[in-house]
Amino acid sequence: MSRYLCPECGYIYDESAGDTHMGFAAGTSWEQLPDDFVCPDCAISYKEDFTCSDESTA
Ligand SMILES: [Zn+2]
Repeated sequence: MSRYLCPECGYIYDESAGDTHMGFAAGTSWEQLPDDFVCPDCAISYKEDFTCSDESTA
């Protein structure tokens, strides 16, 4: 499971947690998100703008 960081506002999408507010269940991988996914916090960053922030490799 990886985490993806919004460069605009710092929102993090965590694959293991999903985003229930957006309708993505826990465990929804980044690849499964729609191509028109936008940051739920700032609505500025698109999927391609997010940076992988995989800190949970332990
Ligand atoms: Zn954002």
